Amino acid sequence: MITASNRNEPPPSSDPHHERRGIPLHWKIVMGLVLGAVLGTACHMVFSRPDTAGLEDFRDEDGNGVDDRLDWFATNVADPLGRVFLRLILMVVLPLIFSALALAVVELGDLRHLGRVGGWTLAFTVLLSLIAVVIGITLVNTVRPGHRLSQEKREALAEQYSKGALETIEQARRAKPLKDTLLDIIPENPLQEMVGALDGTSKGNGMLAVMFFALAFGLATAAVGEKAATLVAVLQGLFEVSMAIIGFAMRLAPFGVACLIFAMTARLGGELLTTLAWFLGVALGGLGLQLFVVYPLFLMVVGRRNPLRFFSDVSDAMLMAFGTSSSNATLPTALRVAEENLRLPPAISRFVLTVGATGNQNGTGLYEGVVVLFLAQVFGVELTVAQQVIVVLMAVLGGMGTAGVPGGSIPMIVIILQAIGVPGESIAIILGIDRILDMCRTVLNVTGDLALAACVARWEKKVVYGVAGVGGES
Ligand code: ASP
Repeated sequence: MITASNRNEPPPSSDPHHERRGIPLHWKIVMGLVLGAVLGTACHMVFSRPDTAGLEDFRDEDGNGVDDRLDWFATNVADPLGRVFLRLILMVVLPLIFSALALAVVELGDLRHLGRVGGWTLAFTVLLSLIAVVIGITLVNTVRPGHRLSQEKREALAEQYSKGALETIEQARRAKPLKDTLLDIIPENPLQEMVGALDGTSKGNGMLAVMFFALAFGLATAAVGEKAATLVAVLQGLFEVSMAIIGFAMRLAPFGVACLIFAMTARLGGELLTTLAWFLGVALGGLGLQLFVVYPLFLMVVGRRNPLRFFSDVSDAMLMAFGTSSSNATLPTALRVAEENLRLPPAISRFVLTVGATGNQNGTGLYEGVVVLFLAQVFGVELTVAQQVIVVLMAVLGGMGTAGVPGGSIPMIVIILQAIGVPGESIAIILGIDRILDMCRTVLNVTGDLALAACVARWEKKVVYGVAGVGGES
């Protein structure tokens, strides 16, 4: 088996976490988050029109409910500035995913080892996703947030947001049948899949197809052995260079996060949040239960880790997920905290985290279930038990196939809505507050990947060496 020589060396010096003196980067990101939120909310309050309090706020000239000058500034200045660092990261996410996954497979080496790690990853993913979706669905059925909106408000909201929803609905309608979706995991043209992987324009299955290619590539490289040693060094170089570019981009993160949060709060204000408070409460309650009850239990029982220490070790990745709403953009930070703070074996953390960034999205699955049942309630569609089971299954699969990008779950939600006879257009009702919930569900997605990696590492170690834990375990 070939191993890259410097696999366990510290990350490159461009990593801002290592050379920065003064305030650590994660505190700067927290400051950016708070500053952006405070400024955005203040601007929204100062610029909102005094004569349009309440739901009428949503009906200004261009129909977005915000003062036009503030809206212009948020859309054309703050949002693009915030996207600079995000784009710099996304720019190298594909080479990073490809090299990390291929190297992980090379390092895992033989098929039995890989099969075990892959098997546990899949089993834990299904288990955690199922728990998440059932929590969400139980909460919506108990609290019934959809029945707490007046008819008038439902209509006003649907009218306000239906324009923005049209494109999403079109995209979802182009969705393929299940057999093609599965077949498309094997790419005919991997380069074409890479081109469209992040924006959903690929012909096949996008990121999943890229991952399949990386897995096959890694397996074949391991099988070829010494003759492919140069290739392994190239992959290692590609990984390090991608991480170095991300290290530079991360220095812009505090400013970028401040701009993104400013743009969101300046446009959103508080009105829509109060109108949809019950829905928001149920979604956040479900995400909170999974994060603060299910994961700690899972970590203690399966991973034999102290959950408090785990949360403090992964806090950088949680913050990054909150600020970017993207599991893919958070992947580099997740890889770093897994190796440095959780002290997981790189081969396992790289494998589980790269696969998990797309394939293990508990927050997304939970959210998809909550939204679909909420909208069914709003539209007065009574779902049978069988239909609810379909929602659960589709949400679990949705969580495993959704792209780890902002708003990645929206097309899947439209597909599930249509499958159970609720109009796809109704997604419009929640689009206005989707971003804030996206931030929260992405935190869950990323934390879930890290918890999964910690548990898979422990089980693998237990089987191979017959010991109870891996480094960093408490
Ligand atoms: N933004 C989520 C993520 O990247 C995906 C989604 O639920 O929209 O993890």
